[in-house]
Amino acid sequence: MPDLNGPLAPGGRIGILGSGQLGRMAALAAARLGYRCHAFGPEDGAPANQVCDAATVAAYDDVEALTRFAESVDVVTFEFENIPLGTVEVLEKLVPLRPSAQVLAICQHRQREKDFCNSVSVPTADYRPAEDPDSLREAVEAIGTPCILKSAELGYDGKGQVRITAESDLEAAWNAMRGHAAQAIGIVEAVVEFRMEISVIVARSSDGAMRTYVPVENRHRHHILDETIVPAKLPEAVADRAEAMARHLAQEMNLVGLLAVEMFVTHDDKVLVNEMAPRPHNSGHWSIDACVTSQFEQFIRAVAGLPLGATERLCDAVMKNLLGDEVEDWRNLLADPGAKLHLYGKAAARPGRKMGHVTRLIRR
Ligand code: AMP
Repeated sequence: MPDLNGPLAPGGRIGILGSGQLGRMAALAAARLGYRCHAFGPEDGAPANQVCDAATVAAYDDVEALTRFAESVDVVTFEFENIPLGTVEVLEKLVPLRPSAQVLAICQHRQREKDFCNSVSVPTADYRPAEDPDSLREAVEAIGTPCILKSAELGYDGKGQVRITAESDLEAAWNAMRGHAAQAIGIVEAVVEFRMEISVIVARSSDGAMRTYVPVENRHRHHILDETIVPAKLPEAVADRAEAMARHLAQEMNLVGLLAVEMFVTHDDKVLVNEMAPRPHNSGHWSIDACVTSQFEQFIRAVAGLPLGATERLCDAVMKNLLGDEVEDWRNLLADPGAKLHLYGKAAARPGRKMGHVTRLIRR
């Protein structure tokens, strides 16, 4: 097992599980610090593979490929949370893993995630587990309508979610939720009447130091992040509370790396956690162009045992995702002197697919 008590020296090798755009932007940040990245994922020619020093194209349960991958790097991290737990458990025996498998286990399962938040006094929407249509009925009665049935695992961007009203056919709702994920475990959540959706990204290093980025407002279209507005226009006390909650969660999880916490702000200024991602997050992309240290550099710093960088923002910003064929506007975006364009190297612009993003800097 490589020793990672001190900082990883330049030239060190960082393994990244997952090979999407988050891995790509993390690898670019790592390269600036003199590291070499090795991406591991099932897709040939994936966004991260194009910019990494090495890439393994293999299934997440390919133990032989995982072993070779572990032997080729000094530390392993991940860029999305739907990595099978078995995969990280194999790796954790061979190489330092940051964040830990335990953190991944919490964040990849909606019930464990909410149980954890509540166990450390961080509020969430009311929720109940549902294991079958009968327990779904009980859960809906307990929570009341309207409510939302979500698959506990493998859901993202609104996939595996069904809104339930008093008139809903619960059997059909159950089948619709289950159709998405093979697992039949669901969770019923109360609908939160929010005035704003926000997120806070916190970095934590192995010595317990933490740095947060300012809370940002996230606007969604069809359940997919469309725009992030920096900073979220919130009373200072609410923003401070949101940041404190993110820090508290990272600390209580003993996280080493980055944690993105998505939250709802209600009309009476309550802050409720919706979900957590232990990795760089789409709502932090603005930090590449508007911060002293981007979320990607910060992520690499935390994983490599370097001191954390400053998270101050140099200016306000609006980040817009380029979904599907919106990317075809690249010429116009490049011609706009106030816009910074980032493209992810994906070939097919399927509807809703994250092809790139553009950040507009707002000078104060
Ligand atoms: P999620 O996959 O949990 O992030 O949900 C996707 C989107 O659905 C969120 O960004 C919200 O806009 C909406 N949503 C999810 N859960 C709730 C809830 N409990 N109450 C109201 N809206 C929700």
